[in-house]
Amino acid sequence: MAEEGRLAVLRRLDEAGAKGIGERIAALRRISAGLWARPAWDAVSRAGAQEAGALAHKLAGSGGTFGFPHVSRVAASLETVLAELAQGADPPADVEKQVERLLAALQSAFARGPAGSRFALAQAEVQAAQGQEICVVAPADRLRGLVELVAGLGFMPIPCDLADPAALPDQAAAVVVLAPDGTADLVRLDPVLGRGPTILVADRVDLDVRLAAARSGIDAVMPLPIDTAELADWLNSFVGSGSEVPYSVLIVDDDQLLVEVYAAALEQAGMVVSVTTNPAEAPALIGAHFPDLVLMDVQMPGISGIELAQVIRQSRRFLSLPVVFLSAERDSERQFLARRFGGDDFITKPVDLERLVTMVRLRAERARSLRSAMEHDSLTGLLNHGRFKDKLQHELERCRRNGGEISLAILDLDLFKAVNDTYGHLAGDQVIRGLARTLRARLRRIDLAGRYGGEEFAVILLDTPPGAAFGVVDQTRRVFAQQRFESEGQAFQATFSAGIASSRRHPEINQLIAAADAMLYEAKRAGRDAVFVDGGPGG
Ligand code: GH3
Ligand code: MG
Ligand code: MG
Repeated sequence: MAEEGRLAVLRRLDEAGAKGIGERIAALRRISAGLWARPAWDAVSRAGAQEAGALAHKLAGSGGTFGFPHVSRVAASLETVLAELAQGADPPADVEKQVERLLAALQSAFARGPAGSRFALAQAEVQAAQGQEICVVAPADRLRGLVELVAGLGFMPIPCDLADPAALPDQAAAVVVLAPDGTADLVRLDPVLGRGPTILVADRVDLDVRLAAARSGIDAVMPLPIDTAELADWLNSFVGSGSEVPYSVLIVDDDQLLVEVYAAALEQAGMVVSVTTNPAEAPALIGAHFPDLVLMDVQMPGISGIELAQVIRQSRRFLSLPVVFLSAERDSERQFLARRFGGDDFITKPVDLERLVTMVRLRAERARSLRSAMEHDSLTGLLNHGRFKDKLQHELERCRRNGGEISLAILDLDLFKAVNDTYGHLAGDQVIRGLARTLRARLRRIDLAGRYGGEEFAVILLDTPPGAAFGVVDQTRRVFAQQRFESEGQAFQATFSAGIASSRRHPEINQLIAAADAMLYEAKRAGRDAVFVDGGPGG
């Protein structure tokens, strides 16, 4: 049904495209006939030639996209001739004939009809919307515990009985399998494999089990009792890719028809597209939509794409926004200029839509992962200091608007210098990672955690009064204190202290941070391994 609707849209665009090309050719013939009808070659003639040249330029750019590559080629030659005409004082004697010949060729190229389906792309599968469900498979008596564990981590478990593989979903964001009898009898697991990234949980995990699992295509193996933090990490990494927010693209092109076609192609590929045919509107749209990428025509009336890219680059926050130019420009000098002034790529018109989609996706993907690397701490994967503060500011503004409340917790590892001194810096890093993992596992997915400093962490608990925040953080403290770390055979444990403050008492960001920090200091002074709340534990 959706498939039919999509093809109907494409067919409609096909028809609109062909109609548009026909109209442009007719207009070109009309203007051109007017040129030779004038008594003398003057400024008006030159203006006419220029107008015709602009039309030919558009045809060269759009013909191929609509399945008329031969129209594109002829139009490009015509454009060159007309461009010379528009500048020259006197047209060469045979130019009228030349233009007429090209116009006739254009007409017949168009009459030959479109060359095959340009929307082969439409048939290419669009990734089916992936569910976020986690398929949980276990022997009946142990199913419930595992389902609750997965649900507790903020995922949506679907309980499945290993005895009834027919009831399993074909596709899941991830599959967690508890091996029957605790051992990994992988033959029995066959029916559950291949339905998504798979985590095997077994009592006995040795190299044999791991090897057998690897050969069966199982992605992760975990021993019992389950390390919740590790399970959360695995599930997050599996679910993450499917839950990606779709790429958003802004298209700036003065040709309405092309804009529609590009937009349709990108939307079919699952992207969110905003468009404008007015380049002057582009900066405001970028500010409003924060696209992952801008697709921009080079030749537009008023402002050129190159100038527009320069304007965009004047804002620091858009320095890394990819700009991909679209142009019928084959002049390598101009292409060079376009790149130099902030264009990341250059797609030549006529645009092959399949290539367009691929290019946009690759570019957007890279821009996102670069941005993510810039925003996240590499040791823990948590938000870095700068980004965390941005988010905090953002959440405080939201509270101001809608009267909500957030709590801020600042955590600091206790006597961490001694951990490093005793067990080594690498062991210290393990502890830092361990705390990050514990935080991720215990917080709700809406809460935000950042690595605030070396061994300091910060957490924003959304819609949470400080009393409830205390419950969460203090529980985390207890869980973390139980965790064992190891360095060269020596087991050790670590603790943290934390301070909590509420946006209700401290609506301003610096005051809020100072208040949480002051509470952290109190916790340290009181002997560490403790959580203190600004205004008392009741909030
Ligand atoms: P307190 O309980 O008062 O916080 O004592 P502390 O020893 O934790 O505090 P101090 O600020 O004196 O020392 C912090 C230590 O954390 C010193 C620094 O070397 C270590 N540290 C900071 N960042 C990292 C890191 O990324 N990895 C490791 N292994 N250690 C780090
Ligand atoms: Mg410390
Ligand atoms: Mg410190």
